[in-house]
Amino acid sequence: MPFMKKNILYFSLIFFVSSLVVSGGLFSSKISRTHPYKDYFSVLNQSWFFNDDEDGYNFPEQKLINVLHYTVKLDLFPEQKRLKGDVTLQFVFTDSLQKFFKINFYDNMRIHKVLWNGSSTNYSNFKTSLTVTPKVLYDTNYVEIIYEGRPKNLGLSSFVFGEINGTSLIYNINEPTYASTWFPCNDVLTDKATYDFYLTNSASKISVANGLLVEKYDSNGRTTYHWRTQYELPTYTAAIYSSDYKTFSDKFITASGDTVPIHYYALPAHLNNAKIDFEEHAQILKVLSQLFGEYPFAKEKYGVAEFLWQGGAMENATITGIGSNFVTGAKMFTDIYVHEAAHQWWGNCVSPATWKDIWLNEGFASYSEALYDEAVFGIDALFSNMRKNFRTDFEGTLYNPGSNLFSSKVYKKGAWVLHMLRWEVGDDDFFAILNQYFDLYKFKNASTGDLKKVCEDVSKKDLSKFFDQWVYKGEKVPVVNYRWKIKQDKDSTYYLVLSLKQVQKGETEYHFPLEVKFMYDNPEDNYSETILVDELTFEKTIKLKKKMNSLIFDPKGWLLIEFNDFNTYE
Ligand SMILES: [Zn+2]
Repeated sequence: MPFMKKNILYFSLIFFVSSLVVSGGLFSSKISRTHPYKDYFSVLNQSWFFNDDEDGYNFPEQKLINVLHYTVKLDLFPEQKRLKGDVTLQFVFTDSLQKFFKINFYDNMRIHKVLWNGSSTNYSNFKTSLTVTPKVLYDTNYVEIIYEGRPKNLGLSSFVFGEINGTSLIYNINEPTYASTWFPCNDVLTDKATYDFYLTNSASKISVANGLLVEKYDSNGRTTYHWRTQYELPTYTAAIYSSDYKTFSDKFITASGDTVPIHYYALPAHLNNAKIDFEEHAQILKVLSQLFGEYPFAKEKYGVAEFLWQGGAMENATITGIGSNFVTGAKMFTDIYVHEAAHQWWGNCVSPATWKDIWLNEGFASYSEALYDEAVFGIDALFSNMRKNFRTDFEGTLYNPGSNLFSSKVYKKGAWVLHMLRWEVGDDDFFAILNQYFDLYKFKNASTGDLKKVCEDVSKKDLSKFFDQWVYKGEKVPVVNYRWKIKQDKDSTYYLVLSLKQVQKGETEYHFPLEVKFMYDNPEDNYSETILVDELTFEKTIKLKKKMNSLIFDPKGWLLIEFNDFNTYE
């Protein structure tokens, strides 16, 4: 997901990054790509994210509704910052005894009429809920809500009638629970549905949404764009954009030979820059398809539209929104483009079961940035990308991060946990896990427990300890103080006597495989051994090939662990 404006740190970092690029030479282009995005407002104390089920937004009755399809007709009036809506939900009750129909819709919108299977019915709209009195009940039912108003601007950018250089630009960011600021919906993660969007704005505007363009027609100086999805999407990824866009296209070919169009929607002033910055998308989608499985929306498109949220990007299904400040013409933000493209697999297709599982979105998308670097630049780029995200000040569990769903912990520690999982199970099993997890849960929802089960099925290992310490229970980054000495035996064999002490506060011990690299005068003599650390105070004696000079723990960088040298080196 996305970002925010009042972030001075963010702007100063952008400036810093820009100055690196300008100075050139000294730093490689890889370094210039270091950047902040969504997670950046972890530095702010955000209060507008909340967990599902605990905030009065979702009600138990909503779990008994399965919306099959939304028809969303929006008449957009940017000058007045108002819209007229006509939205029909096609749905079934999953419980035949269900008598209540309760969905989400913010009560600031003025409802003109609600129709239940075609006939007018009573309703009540209070706070964020719309409760409709059912009339005749069929197997499949239709509720149509006709309304108008100015949607609230909540969360990151729930619905915005924005303006840039005197031109209007309309966009939205629903995640996590703001879809119902602009259309009535069953805003529950597990209730995915298909969509038809009819977006009407003045004829000069191009309007875009999820899915494919079905038709476009004019009436009274206004133009309607009709977009349709054939894949079921979670409500938080439903999106529209409308502005004086300049468009251009590309394509990529899937492994099965299908051509997937890539459509870009740039601000007129950014067209040339966008053409430079966006050109890597075909390669990004190809690489990610090779890593995870076929691009999930291959029968539709991938799209990128500029929007005015200046905090980053939002991975709306098949039509990512990119903050206009992330289009520079200097290819500074490829990591973000990779991140958002990866969300098409992780989030938009395999969706989290609850918001407590948000790391399954953000950790996967963040690790995808490193995997992409590895695929394009080689294995060293994987480790340098991960080093960039190495921090020792993560607080709290990764699972159920509380009110701040988009903290850097969710992103960066999430990425590190996947990286450490790869170290724990090995490359073959790790990529088999990604493939199987995607295959099992595509177009569905997955919990952290579901992922754990796939990991255990594929690796044939009990990963309870791994998930407990890194995901469910562990709240801090482990800190290991170490000492070592060399002992010589009677027969002149050398031994390393190693002692490690985990000193992180208030937590149980961490277990991890640790690579120890023994260093010699002649680097060709260097070699490594991997030991399993499984105690708070851990002692081990290792027989050496010959007396060494020094050692390095975790030389490549597989572990999110701080190692402190407590040797005295007499
Ligand atoms: Zn993300």
